[in-house]
Amino acid sequence: MREHTKLYIDGAWREPEQGSVLELTHPATGEITGRVALGGEADVNRAVAAAKYAFDSYSQTSPEERIELMERVLVEFDRRAEDLAQVVVSEVGAPLALARGAHVPTGRIQITTAIEVLKSFTFSEQRGSTEIRKEPLGVAGLITPWNFPVLQPTGKIVSALAAGCTVVFKPAQLTPYSAVILAEIMDAAGVPAGVFNLVNGRGSVIGNTLSSHPDVGVISFTGSLDAARQVTVAAAPTMKRVNTELGGKSPHILLPDADFDVAVRTVHDWMMAMTGQLCSAPTRTLVPRARLEEFLSVLVPSLEALKVGDPRSLDTQMGPVISRGQWNTVQGYIQQGLDAGARLVTGGLGKPEGLQAGHFVKPTVFADVSNDMAIAREEIFGPVMSVIAYDTVEEAVAIANDTPFGLAGYVTGGDLDEANAVASQIRAGYILINDAEFDWSAPWGGYKESGNGREFGPEGMTEYLETKVVRGG
Ligand code: NAD
Repeated sequence: MREHTKLYIDGAWREPEQGSVLELTHPATGEITGRVALGGEADVNRAVAAAKYAFDSYSQTSPEERIELMERVLVEFDRRAEDLAQVVVSEVGAPLALARGAHVPTGRIQITTAIEVLKSFTFSEQRGSTEIRKEPLGVAGLITPWNFPVLQPTGKIVSALAAGCTVVFKPAQLTPYSAVILAEIMDAAGVPAGVFNLVNGRGSVIGNTLSSHPDVGVISFTGSLDAARQVTVAAAPTMKRVNTELGGKSPHILLPDADFDVAVRTVHDWMMAMTGQLCSAPTRTLVPRARLEEFLSVLVPSLEALKVGDPRSLDTQMGPVISRGQWNTVQGYIQQGLDAGARLVTGGLGKPEGLQAGHFVKPTVFADVSNDMAIAREEIFGPVMSVIAYDTVEEAVAIANDTPFGLAGYVTGGDLDEANAVASQIRAGYILINDAEFDWSAPWGGYKESGNGREFGPEGMTEYLETKVVRGG
């Protein structure tokens, strides 16, 4: 049992001034895993005051000093890598192999990338007799979701610290354990008091107080569109910078000459691996009508062979969804797909056989989906994929773009020139062709209602910088 009754504020673990205690349960078993303190408005105010005070000196550190700091963070992160993997299993329900192979290493890449970015980033540039400087924006409020509780927070924290900002971090309520370990890493690495602060708690309280706080210079928010709208409204009176990374309904276009083994790999890697709880999941697969049944005949057996089960077992390929609420949401969408007349080709309502205790969902695919059905328009955040038939590539591109979102896109095709041409027509921030390996240091972010920010790499750090001109010095 974990017991975290304190918040990390101004370089020490402190009792919350306000707030309550939350009990957490294991997504696979329903067993209680521990208790955490949720802070209140007073705790945010304390954390922001500490971060504001620390900003005066921290913002004046040199890039070399911040590289040294990041290197110490990296050492401590590596020391705690297995602890992080274990808590990702117990708080999110991610399979252990995925926690060790993806959740933790993608967080680590953010630290090594920040070090590399700092080595070459131009903080001051001379244009004739004018100097253009990049300066840290101030206190950064970082608000993160539960689905990638190591990658998302680590990416934001190291980008903000590399830029010279100080940080108040508010993780998702359902994933406080990984956040506590990240705070312990910062503490062990000797991050100066007040430079990094952690306040666990509810979005409506902690997130809202941070977003509206006059002493916070920038908010970096990852989560749902609804919450992002509230954050943006709360932040508007103080005109602080708000960077948002939101959801998606990403298309996967299978071109007429697509290799279906490659396409099915994309479905497994990006649609099912995180039980569909991935912002960039290819939830709409667009298939040439003439090859629809052939595609399903390759896809369905591979999904029915997927090992769904206890995420603590190393051979599990798909774990549960995170919570009962998420399970109910996913079931509601499966019902909507059935009611709308889509053809259920695998999966469906209820839990897989023998997995009644946890929040398990059957890998589910609907065919004969039209793009106006709710299952094709709304983010489900579960292992439910829609297959949509198309007649021409132009029509496929039009369907791909017929969505309010624009986070990611996937193209599978034999002719690379054609795949590239299609990639350039998809209005989304990140396109993967033929199941290419993901680059976790490349800028990540969306078009349209998928948000307005970019994370990771130099672009990610730039979100925490302001531009200043100095002449005549
Ligand atoms: P959520 O919006 O419910 O919560 C995200 C964070 O915002 C949490 O920390 C929450 O406590 C906080 N929050 C909620 N209401 C708030 C408010 N009014 N003011 C301030 N903060 C508030 O999202 P979630 O359910 O945790 O995560 C799932 C969503 O995140 C999905 O839409 C998913 O697509 C998205 N996501 C996007 C990316 C990306 O990089 N684009 C990555 C991961 C997840």
